[in-house]
Amino acid sequence: MTTIIDSMVSTLKADPRFDQQVILVTGASSGIGRALALELAKRGATTILLGRNEDELNKVYDEILTVGGPTPAIIPCDLAALSLDNAEEIAEHIRENFGRLDGLGHIAGVLGGREPIQSHRSTKWDLTLKVNLTAVFRLTQALLPLLNTSEAGRIVFTTSSVGQRVEAYWGAYAVSKAGLEMFVGMLSKELENTSNTRVLIVNPGATRTKMRAEAMPGENPETLPPCDIVAEAFLYGLTKEAQASHGQRVNARDLMDALGTWRAS
Ligand code: NAP
Repeated sequence: MTTIIDSMVSTLKADPRFDQQVILVTGASSGIGRALALELAKRGATTILLGRNEDELNKVYDEILTVGGPTPAIIPCDLAALSLDNAEEIAEHIRENFGRLDGLGHIAGVLGGREPIQSHRSTKWDLTLKVNLTAVFRLTQALLPLLNTSEAGRIVFTTSSVGQRVEAYWGAYAVSKAGLEMFVGMLSKELENTSNTRVLIVNPGATRTKMRAEAMPGENPETLPPCDIVAEAFLYGLTKEAQASHGQRVNARDLMDALGTWRAS
């Protein structure tokens, strides 16, 4: 029986291209989102870079041009403040400027503080749920009509191990990822017979990023895989071949093991 990891390996080994495709990546200013946007652009995609930090987005823009990728677009956006109207404005902007959207990578996220429920800061709770869950819902809802006009629209979402495994002190972060997993499961069932858009949810696992350093300050980052290797699982989620893996949840570590791209020391 062919597993999703087999499909991922064969698809990635075939060096997929994304020419003529328009793909929006949230969290493109840093970490996994930045690595994903760069890789998509290297493979011919026109990328729309969404994030908060405009200076960092500009750097990614320049890097894409340096590696010969198609000219990207930048959408500076604070997802914590994203209303449905704002999300619809983003959709309209993409429709006017590109006329299409083939893929959407929801990579942005915040940790929001590892603290016990008893003393969890309410502001952190609200912020985390807004960025990691509510903004994902609003952007997805606003962008689905455009994705549905693509011959093979794809959305890839980002979860975490603590979205399924119950652990103390992960607070709103774990709750937001658990909620996201339910959201994606529901969405995948709703899209199955009503749309050409297909979804995948990826758990990157511990990755060498700012967020991981914030969550685990004592950890040596060199013991963790870098973003470009982890981003391959997300890249797969945006290939046309990933349509066959609709609604599945995948661990990037399983892909890295199969490809032999990272061995924990
Ligand atoms: P990161 O380097 O800190 O990147 C987080 C990204 O999210 C940045 O581009 C940031 O943009 C964006 N973001 C945060 N708040 C935002 C807001 N209010 N509005 C717009 N953009 C916002 O972290 P990362 O590790 O790459 O995280 C990427 C995803 O992987 C997250 O969903 C995270 O939950 C998930 N994840 C990571 C790990 C890990 O070990 N690293 C493990 C499991 C899951 P600005 O910098 O522009 O604000």
